Amino acid sequence: MQAGEFIEGLRRDFLLTTDDLKKIAEDFHGEMRRGLAGGRSSLKMLPSHIDCATGGESGDFLAIDLGGTNLRVLQVNLCGRGKARIERVRKFRIPESATHGRGEDLFDFIAKSIGVFTKKTGAVRRMGFTFSFPFEQDGAASGRLIGWTKGFSATGVVGRDVAALLRDAFHRNSVDKIEIAALMNDAVGTLVAGSYTDRRCDIAAIFGTGTNACYRERAAGIGKLKKSPADEGGHMIVNIEWGNFDRLPLNRYDLALDAETINPKCQIFEKMISGMYLKKIAAKIIEDMILQKIIFGGRIPARLADDFGTGDMSAIELDRAKGLPKTRSILRRLGAANSSTDERKAIRDVCNVVSGRAARASAAALFAVVTWIDPGLADRHTLAMDGTLFEKYPKFKGRVSAALKDLDPNKSSNIRMIHAKDGSGIGAAIAAAVAAKKSSNLFCDMSIRGTR
Ligand code: ADP
Ligand code: MG
Repeated sequence: MQAGEFIEGLRRDFLLTTDDLKKIAEDFHGEMRRGLAGGRSSLKMLPSHIDCATGGESGDFLAIDLGGTNLRVLQVNLCGRGKARIERVRKFRIPESATHGRGEDLFDFIAKSIGVFTKKTGAVRRMGFTFSFPFEQDGAASGRLIGWTKGFSATGVVGRDVAALLRDAFHRNSVDKIEIAALMNDAVGTLVAGSYTDRRCDIAAIFGTGTNACYRERAAGIGKLKKSPADEGGHMIVNIEWGNFDRLPLNRYDLALDAETINPKCQIFEKMISGMYLKKIAAKIIEDMILQKIIFGGRIPARLADDFGTGDMSAIELDRAKGLPKTRSILRRLGAANSSTDERKAIRDVCNVVSGRAARASAAALFAVVTWIDPGLADRHTLAMDGTLFEKYPKFKGRVSAALKDLDPNKSSNIRMIHAKDGSGIGAAIAAAVAAKKSSNLFCDMSIRGTR
């Protein structure tokens, strides 16, 4: 078989037609409905007990953001009127030993990093904690981990309150006087940050190592809430945990990848679209092409499986120079010393097919969430987006927009995506401010919403 023929077949295997997208969105609604009611669903629809920001929150706050790859520690100044400034930020790479070892080691690593950071921050003591894994909450400042995602496996954390585990680690490491005022995941943090500057912002989505989204829901619409909707303040953000959505057409590469993961049959949507997995799907396809002797004379580059990254896919898709020199050097790094221009083009096509499907599937899920809030798309909606894939993958945003347009040619212009850079960190600080305001003034005036 020729490379061209292989790629043609691949495009068919990875094609999501507009009808497919509509079907995905429809199924997504069904799963949302069951999840909110507390029934069986691949979508956990977790009440966050945190509402969108008013824009009026102010003061200095600490925030930490534990993603899949890095821990970010921030000091944020909220000026009110929707303006936030990061005063200081420091990134700590999460060591492998912390993600796969004992839970204590992970939380010691977090506590120590905060300890190093706060040596310079002095009086700022109230902190928001962004923890980007699924957890169950009864209130805004605590949450029990339901299960790890993104390849984490630290022991002794599942089922426990992660805020309490961090507090224990503060004690063990002599980090004093820090109050964890709010706990949220990165999507919720990003929505809080987006709503701080834009009152039309009612959805947030993350496309990074993993993927997830959340939106603003009426408390009365969350059937499984224990307290009455009035006690919950009327509205709150619901964390969809959409990475686990599983009503999707899968092909042989998806199935092969899933079988190799530590969580087979879970996080199926995440495995189709997020940074941690796109590279693995692409590597599987490339391997298949090689085994069929279509490229590289049947020899698999030694480091293809382990060293190929989603960042490489970005770089390869951007490689428009004659002879694809960037792609050549990536392939050399992976162990393919010699490659022809046609082979490099085939590799680029593979990346394009895999990332293109990811963008279209993402659009279907985003469309489902917007039309859940507003079935006729009568109003304008701002979607706060973050994550390296959204930020850096070439044409990702454009392809999502195009698919949204396919889904509703007339009304998709009411959907606006913004890049809420560092939203999850800033949002944690804002949520800490909201919690502070609530505890000092139970009659906090919600009417300020909509005045920006
Ligand atoms: P997290 O907050 O979960 O750590 P990030 O949003 O920082 O995630 O994204 C990190 C992920 O983004 C990496 O795991 C990798 O898969 C992917 N990535 C890294 N560089 C690029 C790039 N240039 N283009 C697209 N994706 C990238
Ligand atoms: Mg992140």
